[in-house]
Amino acid sequence: MASKSRIVEDKSQAELEELKKGTPSVMIDEEAWITSEMIAVGALAPLHGFMTGADYHSVLSEGRLADGHPFPVVLSFAPAGKRNAETIASKVGEGETIVLLNQNREAVATLEVEEKWSYDKKERAQKIFGTTDEKHPGVRQVYQRMGDVSLAGRLELYKRPDWGAFEPFRKTPEQSRAEIKKQGARDVVAFWTGANPVHRGHEHIQRNLMEHYDMLMAAPLVTMAKKEQITSEYRVACYEVLFKNYYPKHKVLLLPQKITYIFAGPREAVLHAIISRNYGATAIAFGRDYAGVGDYFGKYEAHSAFDEYDLAELGIKPVFFREVYYCARCGHTVTDDTCKHGPEFTIGVSGTGIRDLMRYGFLPPKEIVRPEVARLAIQGVVPKGVGPDGNAVSPPGKVIKRLFPFYLVAHRLGGQIRREPLDWTTLNLNNLRRALKEVREDSENILKDIYREFEYGADIDRSMTSKWVQDATVTALEDQQIAIDLIAARLEAETDETAKIEIRKELEVAESIMCEIGKVITDKEAKSRVWNLDDYESYR
Ligand SMILES: [Zn+2]
Repeated sequence: MASKSRIVEDKSQAELEELKKGTPSVMIDEEAWITSEMIAVGALAPLHGFMTGADYHSVLSEGRLADGHPFPVVLSFAPAGKRNAETIASKVGEGETIVLLNQNREAVATLEVEEKWSYDKKERAQKIFGTTDEKHPGVRQVYQRMGDVSLAGRLELYKRPDWGAFEPFRKTPEQSRAEIKKQGARDVVAFWTGANPVHRGHEHIQRNLMEHYDMLMAAPLVTMAKKEQITSEYRVACYEVLFKNYYPKHKVLLLPQKITYIFAGPREAVLHAIISRNYGATAIAFGRDYAGVGDYFGKYEAHSAFDEYDLAELGIKPVFFREVYYCARCGHTVTDDTCKHGPEFTIGVSGTGIRDLMRYGFLPPKEIVRPEVARLAIQGVVPKGVGPDGNAVSPPGKVIKRLFPFYLVAHRLGGQIRREPLDWTTLNLNNLRRALKEVREDSENILKDIYREFEYGADIDRSMTSKWVQDATVTALEDQQIAIDLIAARLEAETDETAKIEIRKELEVAESIMCEIGKVITDKEAKSRVWNLDDYESYR
């Protein structure tokens, strides 16, 4: 393509009206308008116009533009609808300029038509989504939203789509790179999130990244992926409160992305990498199940989508993370790589589970969502409440399986393992309440109890010792001695040899219990743990 698409913002309303006269026009939907904006601002560079047939086929088969640049998804401009089809067939020729009209019939852009070309929708669905199943939202989009003829060419965008509440956050790649430069950041890592509120699984990864990168570029998608989710405004608000209350200001850049969900799974991950690079990021982090929909892709498949490209030609480094969960024994968010404990300690960090728990009307535990974030997220979740069958989107058992796996395998959080794990399909709302109560009441006690045990045995200066614990031990020892004395006296008095055998057994048990009662550590014993002979001066 000879010259790049661009934004032209100084056209007057009258000039725009004039444009419509005598020039063929095509109606575009919101999504095509958004894509036009992305092309015009350079967010999709090196793609600087709607794709040609050569680019399209090259991307479909090689994952590269015709000139060899990595590009993972096809972005062709094939306006749907009868009127558009007629206009394109009869009035639009290569080399001509057409006007693009939005839903209100305002002229928003012009397109210099470089090429008119046809394509096969079935091939497109199969190659991009790995299926032609119309239940897949991406496939459905191809059949419903797209016409049969594509137009390639360079855009001039006169009017940008309204970003509503997100106008204050909107930046061009150029503005974003300038902001990064102003902050003095060199290594910037991008982190995209979709339908879920930012949770402690995300936070775990973000903090990890912020240790190594100068800046975190957080990119919540602000288009609705599916109907059931958290509204975009609340999700951005969740990010704002996390940043405001927890992260240093100079380390974060909040950059909501209004882009079409493509549902291309692994390939979408590469697209997000390219966009992030254009906005100034040097790395991009991916968690589990990135941009996946249903079961069409494997859990970590986004990770392998990058194997086809050389990192130098991509110009951005992908960083991958494993599934994060909360371990009540570690008292921390962890992954399989960093924690050895069993499922009896596990509290899951599942976005889907979190959304459903909030639909049932419960604030998620602080272990998986920061309370500041959760308080907003529960207001933004749609739909709310339960249906006529008493279930939210998922039945209570499924929420337990996703968030509280400990409940299925143990009698209590961190407790003894059940002989048979519970079958989640048999669980009801009461079980969900109980599981949540366990977390709310017991999660913190696990570390507290362990520490108390160690503190009692290890403090050398006994002044901080929980006196009531020591008193209880002393009492237990004294009381046990009373029982032992009585049994011993009875043994002494007994004359029958058979009876004596049983009393002796009874005495043995009472004495062994005496040995099992904890030890009272006296001041003197504790002080004797100081074994250095010389005073401090001699150690300096
Ligand atoms: Zn652990």
